[in-house]
Amino acid sequence: MKKKNSEAVPGADQGLFGELPPPAPAKKSGLLAFSYSKLSLYEECPLKYKFKYIDKMKEEPKYYFAFGNSVHAALEFLYSVKAPPFPSLEETLDAFRRDWAAKSYLEKGYRSPQKAEDDCRKGLAMLKAYYEHNRRSFKPPFLVEYSTDVEVDGLLVRTISDRIEHLGGGELAIIDYKTGKDVKRQPLQLYMYQKINELDPRLREKLAETYGLRVSAVKVRQLLYYHVPTLKEYPFERADDKEIGAFWERVLGVADGIKGLKFEPTPGERQCAWCDFKSLCPAFFGGHHRPADLPPPEAVKIEALVDRYGQLKEKMADLQAQLDEVAGSLGRAAKDGGEYAGSQYTARVKKNSKWEFRDREAVIGVLNKFDLYQKALNLTLTGITSVLESADLPEEARKKLLEQAVKRTAFDIKITKKEGLI
Ligand code: SF4
Repeated sequence: MKKKNSEAVPGADQGLFGELPPPAPAKKSGLLAFSYSKLSLYEECPLKYKFKYIDKMKEEPKYYFAFGNSVHAALEFLYSVKAPPFPSLEETLDAFRRDWAAKSYLEKGYRSPQKAEDDCRKGLAMLKAYYEHNRRSFKPPFLVEYSTDVEVDGLLVRTISDRIEHLGGGELAIIDYKTGKDVKRQPLQLYMYQKINELDPRLREKLAETYGLRVSAVKVRQLLYYHVPTLKEYPFERADDKEIGAFWERVLGVADGIKGLKFEPTPGERQCAWCDFKSLCPAFFGGHHRPADLPPPEAVKIEALVDRYGQLKEKMADLQAQLDEVAGSLGRAAKDGGEYAGSQYTARVKKNSKWEFRDREAVIGVLNKFDLYQKALNLTLTGITSVLESADLPEEARKKLLEQAVKRTAFDIKITKKEGLI
C-alpha cells in the first residue's frame, strides 16, 4: 500500500492522511517534480521547503500522519475489490491493526504507548462508524489510490487520488478522505486532482480496460472531501476554466520561486510550531521568532544546538529503552537461541549466562581476604567471574563471593539485513 505523509501542519488544507509522498524524481532534465504538498509547504514557508526537499533534512515522525496513514490503509483495503462481496467489518479493522502494528509508538511519533493505544482505539471506532454508515452504498470504485505523474508547463506533477468513481460517459468523481480535526472548505487540492487527472492519458486507457468504454477525454464532474471522523461530505462542483486558471497561476508562481532558489523564511505561530527545523532556522530563536535586534544567527546558533542536542539525547534514551524491551522479548522467544528470519532482517540469537555482583566493597573484601585481588585482573567483571568459576578456589571464598553474586541470562543478538533490501 502506498503511504502518504506530509509536511503540512495539522488542520492545514492537506491531503487526507497528510500529504502526498514526494513526487518521483523528474524523468526529463528541466522538469521540476511537483505535488500539492510541495505547493502548500512552499506557501507555508519557503525555507522549510528548502530544508525538506532541497537539503533533504529528516523530519521527526508525526503521530497524526501515522494515524491518517493507518485509516487510509484500511479504506484502501476495503475498496480494493473488483466485484462484491466487500471485506467484512472485522477484516477492514484487521487491515487497520496490521498497518498500525507495523511501527512502534515512537516510530509513529507518539510520546507514550498510552497515547498511541488511545489513537488506535479511536481509529477502530472511526472505521466501524464509517463502515456501518456506508455499507449499503458500497460499490466497487473505478480506481483506488490512483497515482499518476503528468508533465505540464515544465513540471512533473504527481497526484494520488484516494478514490475515483466513474459516473458514466467518461465523467468522474474524485473523493479525498480527511482524518484531521477539521476540513478546510478550500478545494484547491481537489483542483489539482481535477487538472492533472483530466490531462492524464492513462485514465482513458483504464476506462477502456475496466468498462470497455472509449472516450476522447475524461471529465471530472464532482469533487468531494469526505471527513471520516464526522462522516460528513464536502462536495464541490468541478472548477471552471477561470478557477483552474487562477489556481494554476499560483502553482506556476511557486514553481518559479523554487526554480529561482527563493527560500526566504516566513515565520509564523502556526507553521513554526510544527517545524522540525527551528534549530537551523535564522528566523527562529529560543522558541520565538527572532526579534530584529538580535545578534546575527551565527552568534545565537549554539543555544539552538544545545536544545537540539538535548532533544536528540532524550529521544535516544527513549529508543534505547524500547530496544532493550524488544531485545528481551526476542531473547525469551528464541529460548535456546538460533537463527530467526523476519521479512527484512535475520537475527542470530545466542544465549549466555553472566554473573553480576551486588556490592563492590564486599567483593573487594573477599578478594583481599583470600589474596585473590591480582587474579581478579584488577576487578574487571571477567576477572572476578573467572576467579569465582576457577576449580581451585577455596570453598570458603567461593561461598562468600556467591553471596554477592547473581546469575543472569543474557542474549547476544546479531542482526543482518536480508539481501536485496535497502
Ligand atoms: S522555524 Fe518557522 S520560519 Fe523557520 S523554517 Fe521553520 S517554519 Fe520557516
